[in-house]
Amino acid sequence: MRPILIGSEIYRGSTYGPKHPLAIPRVSTTLDLIRAMGWVDDAHYIDSPRATPEQLLRFHTPEYIAALMQAEATQRVDPAHRERHRIGADGNPVFREVFSRPATGAGGVMLAARLTAAGGTVHVPGGGTHHGMPDRASGFCYLNDAVLGLMAWRDQGLTNILYLDLDAHHGDGVEAAFHDDPHVFTLSIHEAGRWPHTGPAEEHAGGHARNLAVPQDYNDSEADWLLRHAVLPIIRHLKPQAIMIQAGADSVAEDPLSRLALSNVAYRATLSAVMPWAPRLILLGGGGYNPWSVARCWAGLWATLNGLPIPPRLPAAAEAVLRGLAWSRAAGRNPPDHWFTTIADEPRPGIVRDEIRVLAARTLHDLPEVARIVA
Ligand SMILES: [Zn+2]
Repeated sequence: MRPILIGSEIYRGSTYGPKHPLAIPRVSTTLDLIRAMGWVDDAHYIDSPRATPEQLLRFHTPEYIAALMQAEATQRVDPAHRERHRIGADGNPVFREVFSRPATGAGGVMLAARLTAAGGTVHVPGGGTHHGMPDRASGFCYLNDAVLGLMAWRDQGLTNILYLDLDAHHGDGVEAAFHDDPHVFTLSIHEAGRWPHTGPAEEHAGGHARNLAVPQDYNDSEADWLLRHAVLPIIRHLKPQAIMIQAGADSVAEDPLSRLALSNVAYRATLSAVMPWAPRLILLGGGGYNPWSVARCWAGLWATLNGLPIPPRLPAAAEAVLRGLAWSRAAGRNPPDHWFTTIADEPRPGIVRDEIRVLAARTLHDLPEVARIVA
């Protein structure tokens, strides 16, 4: 069965506001790039349903969902709602689709869980809002579509699920949601010392979480080391029934909000290595604040899911998609030519620092017994 791509036109023209890091188009550019490459046909593309308020209550509080819907309807927020739910605060603005856009992401990921009930692969680039909390917005995330998708898998009776988070920021909302559920193992690779300042290496959330908090300038060779010495050994140990990957594209070198130094080659290498171990696989988006690197990274991951080769030089239609982007940040005024003409970055190898080796070795200590995980 070939992979399914779930997208939506709700992302086209949607913005968190002109000065916000999410002023940029990401999902629409990714879909345009995939289509310009001829990499998807109508039979393998599904327009995302919007989750109903009732569906969202599986994880979120009724008061919070009502407040989000009210914020969208009125385009303002009550001071009490701002205070409690952090809507219109902390970088979580009231914007035109402040309820319907995250609800579309959630609906897409929940649909992906249904589509993979008996196995298969689904990519939801609009999903990956891993900071969302039950009663409040956090880190540009209003709802937690990853949690809702994982809960949908749990509701199908799956008892051995792996969540792998590649975003530069710790997947705090997902780890917290499953803190008391040993059936969902959360593994997050993120920059140490960066917001939300959770997820230190020692944090195991009762045993079924691991955090690979990596230093600045984390490179492709170090990502390969962690893949082979931490991620794959954990997967071989757990033998999960289902894997969800959050592929936030903010760990690449040219992202403005983090200080890691990956190329998008490292993302595709991780996905390639994990895919054979995932009877059910959901691939999400997440962070990513350079419009070129996000679209190139996520379109490249779709190619990997489908076993499609990435040509060294893009055809004219795909180049036109990338040349159509504008970015108000300094780096966007003079983009290097390969942001327009390629999907695959040049690899960014480097020295594997001792702290990476130590981190990998420590991560494998005291992994939970599978017998305890499989109910
Ligand atoms: Zn992030």
